[in-house]
Amino acid sequence: MESITFDTECQSAKKAIVNKKDTDREEVNVLVKLLKKDGQTGVETQVPVAVDFSFTPGEDNVAESDSFQSLGKKGDTNADYWKKNDKSVDFSVMNTSEGKTKARSKTKTDGGDKSKAYIDFLPSGVGGDTFTLKATVYKDGTETEDCSQESGELTVWRETKFNLYEMTGESHIANNKDHIQGRFDNAFGKCKLGEVATVQNNVKYIGLYQVDWNVTQQKQSAETPTPQEIRDAARLWNDDRRKKARSQITQKAQAWVDRIEGEYGSAKNNWKTGNLIADDSVVGIQYLHPKFNPSSGANAAQTSQWSEFGWLVINAPLGGGSKHPDGAWTMKNSMGIDTDIAGISYTSAERVSFVTKVRSDRARAVMTHEIGHASGFYFKRKKFGSGDDHSTHGLMAPQGPESHDEFTSSEIEILKGMN
Ligand SMILES: [Zn+2]
Repeated sequence: MESITFDTECQSAKKAIVNKKDTDREEVNVLVKLLKKDGQTGVETQVPVAVDFSFTPGEDNVAESDSFQSLGKKGDTNADYWKKNDKSVDFSVMNTSEGKTKARSKTKTDGGDKSKAYIDFLPSGVGGDTFTLKATVYKDGTETEDCSQESGELTVWRETKFNLYEMTGESHIANNKDHIQGRFDNAFGKCKLGEVATVQNNVKYIGLYQVDWNVTQQKQSAETPTPQEIRDAARLWNDDRRKKARSQITQKAQAWVDRIEGEYGSAKNNWKTGNLIADDSVVGIQYLHPKFNPSSGANAAQTSQWSEFGWLVINAPLGGGSKHPDGAWTMKNSMGIDTDIAGISYTSAERVSFVTKVRSDRARAVMTHEIGHASGFYFKRKKFGSGDDHSTHGLMAPQGPESHDEFTSSEIEILKGMN
């Protein structure tokens, strides 16, 4: 007769943290003890004992077909659940009618791990799926159970990790840090946020870092309409010369916009690099750029480079749509007021997001929104929408943080790893 005990971690209910299917594993170990002749105290075994591992999945676990890229394992008879741990002895997987659900590992016979059997468990990748593990020792050469134990219930949580930074004098990251996890709880998303580090280099607009806005907003020669174009653009509506001149001026204005957008991008990068912002970070700043943050000052977004062309419309960057180049380049809200771009995420592998100085409750929603974008780098999930990873409605809509503080149920399904 033997006794069997899961390691303390597994004895109670716990979060099984996974990132991507089949890459992260739970180390599981059980201690097997033989009972002494007195039938009371257990002793570690000197001889290898085979321990069989199995599990009971939660009834509500997600079927493979309902999950994104087979994150769910329910009904997937090809799914791997058990992997060899570095300390496994004579590891083997047994095929059953449900798939590769059972495995065996023997106890170690020496060292500090004596009498312990090790194995790795791979739960599904869907947030909220549960598994209860079971370890069984059979009587020698029989199918009669000698002893067994069940673990606590493991629940799959999907993890993201971010460093936090804030410019000196700002507090919208620090004030909201503790509220973020609550926004991800329903999606079984674990948000690991670091302590807030202070960035000394406080500039009003990181998109104008080491850039003189008064200089850079001046039209360059290739962007400047010729006197002939200006005259032709003012001709009668049915004059062919007018259409041609207006098209040329529009192209020049678009080149002006594109250059300024490019300079904004470089300045933003230079600020980030210059301040040694690590990858995987959320950074609290003042503002991005006057054109993207019209609320940053009186008429902050206003320029007067194209004021003689009232008809002129350019395609504004960052999804701003059709705009006159001299105004703000952002969308208008339901009241017809130019909105601010309150946060922005790098789509590159650096995974750095900036959150601007907006009202505190909104900063929280913006932080959640940007972490929502970045989560796609940490674990597999469907995009929130076609194209640029935005929902049409909800916290992950482009202007979602203005009206939503929580994820919608369909956004939660996506974060959990559903299809
Ligand atoms: Zn967004």
